Amino acid sequence: MRHPLLGVLLMSALAAAPAKAADWKLVIHGGAGVIERAQLAKTPGKEQEIRAGLDRALAAGSAVLERGGTALDAVEAAVRVLEDDPNFNAGRGAVFTADGKNELDASIMDGRTKAAGAVAGVTRTRNPISLARKVMENSSHVMLSGAGADSFSREQGLDQVDPSWFGTDYRRKQLEEFKSAKVGALDIEYRYGTVGAVALDRAGHVAAATSTGGMTGKRWNRVGDAPIIGAGTYADDRACAVSATGSGEMFIRVGVAHEICARMRFLKEDAGTAADAVMKEVAAIDGSGGVIVVTPKGEMAYSFNSAGMYRGKADSNGRSVAIFGDEERR
Ligand code: ASP
Repeated sequence: MRHPLLGVLLMSALAAAPAKAADWKLVIHGGAGVIERAQLAKTPGKEQEIRAGLDRALAAGSAVLERGGTALDAVEAAVRVLEDDPNFNAGRGAVFTADGKNELDASIMDGRTKAAGAVAGVTRTRNPISLARKVMENSSHVMLSGAGADSFSREQGLDQVDPSWFGTDYRRKQLEEFKSAKVGALDIEYRYGTVGAVALDRAGHVAAATSTGGMTGKRWNRVGDAPIIGAGTYADDRACAVSATGSGEMFIRVGVAHEICARMRFLKEDAGTAADAVMKEVAAIDGSGGVIVVTPKGEMAYSFNSAGMYRGKADSNGRSVAIFGDEERR
């Protein structure tokens, strides 16, 4: 016969066992475009460097989430790593404007509160994503641009760099090619490399962040979708968090990031279905690129209509990165 105390002992042992912590998720991108094996192979070691860079960003964001940190901190941490990596079109390694300058755009959004911050055309902040976060937390505004944003950055004590910090020979060469070939500013070859991250934390909140140098040869203080809340970035705990990359004008016109979250809320679509449907709308107006999505339920999705997208994802089971269209697509 079972001892009467055994049941009590078992129950208390169960109660004492630590509850399994809810899982966290992280998805990143480093831009979408005509990214093909043959083209990358022209620079020996480039593919490995890019994969390593994506993995470093995943590791930085994962460390935050693993120790119970917020999705907001995780997306900022992941994007900062990619901004400092010259292989991506954000922060150091940003593409050049027609005047040979670097003008950086970034935005961040907290799905828990729907607080958001964005900057456009900044020129001296080492990590524009952190400036977007300061706009969100330390100003009463959502978006600051140009010289005003640069001076807000100094006031906030963010790391300032000489504008030459952002430039690389590779991007300078792209500007020269762009000018001599007279290709359109929307030519995807000349701009990919925007970076972004979306995350779900253990508390069940989502956040999104995007940062870019925009498009090679851009003029007239052109601003793309990356700093536009609802286009390049959106996060809402009721639906999802999204970061986009691609032909910014078309992503603005479709309202890509918000549209994906809206489809999930109102049509009850899963993340992949909603993202694919919205990317089809982008394609229908000749736009190309991709998105990453995370949901409070723990779904992770990639969707892109370009040949490739630098991408990666992580959860407590591990990390993976992919580049080409024939690798992991979801
Ligand atoms: N979406 C960015 C922009 O239009 C560029 C990119 O993602 O490649 O500025």
